[in-house]
Amino acid sequence: MKENQFIDKVVLVTGGASGIGFEIARAYANAMAKVIIADILPAKQEFAFDFIHADVSSAESISTLFIYIKTKYERLDILINNAGISIFTPFEELTVTIWDKIINTNLRSVFLCSQLAIPLMRKQGGKIINIASTRAIMSEEDTEAYSASKGGIVAITHALAISLSKYNIQVNCISPGWIETGQYKALSDIDHSQHPSGRVGKPADIARACLYLTSTENEFVNGTNLIVDGGMTIKMIYED
Ligand code: NAD
Repeated sequence: MKENQFIDKVVLVTGGASGIGFEIARAYANAMAKVIIADILPAKQEFAFDFIHADVSSAESISTLFIYIKTKYERLDILINNAGISIFTPFEELTVTIWDKIINTNLRSVFLCSQLAIPLMRKQGGKIINIASTRAIMSEEDTEAYSASKGGIVAITHALAISLSKYNIQVNCISPGWIETGQYKALSDIDHSQHPSGRVGKPADIARACLYLTSTENEFVNGTNLIVDGGMTIKMIYED
């Protein structure tokens, strides 16, 4: 990867205050980008991020966020649509309120943030990464709303890649598998060994994938869903 390529690039990471988003924000900050974190929670003070309180489930809040970016930076080079929530509810008990909360936070936010990014990217071009999930393509019980939101992200990613190519905006998504954002040391041997890669994922695995997909050299990986799951989704699971 070309050195110094992210210096002064303006990068927005939604949901960047903790977990995977924080590690993504840190990776771009380490690469000397100007990183904006938009979250409902305050960010750790570890780095000099530009933190803005924004609720991506609210169209109004997203609109305020993009007015702020336009006023302060006048451009956006990289958008990481990472904010997401997972609420798993028995399907029989899934309410419209919970469905709407998950879809609006995880999926509608991708539509709105990507649309508002266009005027800030069209002059110089840009890169959008949407964080989906392997649950877009495989399931446990009681995950309908979350899985639907992530399947929607995979679909909107390829649609956007086509629609935004005229503005030199590339759009890809990443589907993480099990990425441990809590106590990695507390994981068991079986947690790790069931993965063909021999370990559970870490937020840095996703951050590296973001850097790769948004690097200036990457023009040709476009509209794809990059699965980063230690090989779990290609593993046959028939029982003996
Ligand atoms: P997390 O809960 O640790 O972090 C999510 C962040 O998003 C938090 O900082 C939270 O405050 C923020 N957020 C939540 N709702 C928001 C809203 N309405 N507006 C703004 N910010 C909001 O979760 P994570 O594990 O780091 O997940 C990050 C992304 O990766 C999510 O989209 C998640 O679905 C996806 N993902 C995670 C895993 C995993 O194993 N951790 C696997 C697949 C996909």
